[in-house]
Amino acid sequence: MIIVLRSNSAPETDTQVCEALREAGLSSQVVRTAQHRLVVVIDDASGLPSHLFSRIEGVEKVIRVQAQCPLALNSNDISLRFSNGAVLGGGAAPVVIAGPCSVEGRLQLFQIASEVKSAGAQLLRGGAFKPRTSPYDFRGLGAEALEYLREARQITGLPVVSEVMSAEQVELADSCVDMFQIGARNMYNYELLKEVGRSRKPILLKRAFSATISELLQAAEYILLEGNLQVVLCERGIRTFETHTRNTLDLSAVAALKNMTQLPVLVDPSHGTGRPELIRPMSRAAIACGADGLLIEVHNDPCKALSDGGQAITPSVLTEIVRDVRAVYQACTQDQKLSTCTASLQPASV
Ligand code: PEP
Ligand code: MN
Repeated sequence: MIIVLRSNSAPETDTQVCEALREAGLSSQVVRTAQHRLVVVIDDASGLPSHLFSRIEGVEKVIRVQAQCPLALNSNDISLRFSNGAVLGGGAAPVVIAGPCSVEGRLQLFQIASEVKSAGAQLLRGGAFKPRTSPYDFRGLGAEALEYLREARQITGLPVVSEVMSAEQVELADSCVDMFQIGARNMYNYELLKEVGRSRKPILLKRAFSATISELLQAAEYILLEGNLQVVLCERGIRTFETHTRNTLDLSAVAALKNMTQLPVLVDPSHGTGRPELIRPMSRAAIACGADGLLIEVHNDPCKALSDGGQAITPSVLTEIVRDVRAVYQACTQDQKLSTCTASLQPASV
């Protein structure tokens, strides 16, 4: 159960609601978002009558939900607007986020940033802190990369997405990054999820290699419960018996999530396939099944990339993908309009 408080309600309304719940033997948590104050009932409240709250001044409405993640499943359409006007989610045209797996140097980043912008990407990605399976692999330039990202944003106007793995990195990256990425390896890091939940930046939450859809939504719930409603889910492939691809891109999860939650859903076909030749077809498929955007690794010289070069595409392939994305989105939305239109033309049954 979620109890929504009026925006102009007195500060003590939270306490009154929580007290009423405590008397009924239920625990609760107050969530303060940019627009609302909510009280989320943590225990099963199915037996609780709603009129218990209608007597409390300041209560706007009571939403009954039988779910482990009430906020993830009941948030209103979330659409994120970035400084350059890009809109992600809420039915807006798909957004393409592109850039190198890792920031490798200042000029390398500036070159890729300007090329992905020319290709039509609306946000720039670039790893400063890299989670690598082997500790001997390149693990990112850290704080130095953040400065380059800040400059790249200034030069190109593209908002920046970069991964953080600890509370300390959240603080370091705060002024250089417009959206924090939580990587697949950290989807289960609940302290980190709570930390980014306390920030007021959008969060790109990647599905862990072996996470179920429900576990992904519950991870999102950790962030939402801290009052940060700007959560974007990302399907990036799961581990299966298949070895031809790096992971198995689970596009059925995208369609399922779009049916379950109003949070925007992205697809990362780079980690999802690990193969550059599959990124274009899977990007088309992702948009066709309802994804709100794509996260794609792009490098100006993939053979020399310090991380994930084997799956990087060049800016010219990105140009083709952006063109495809627009065409597929248009075809799908056109199709929806046509079916609504033909449905209204059906003769009334007699
Ligand atoms: C990345 O985006 O570079 C990355 C490490 O992704 P994931 O967490 O999905 O492996
Ligand atoms: Mn990568």
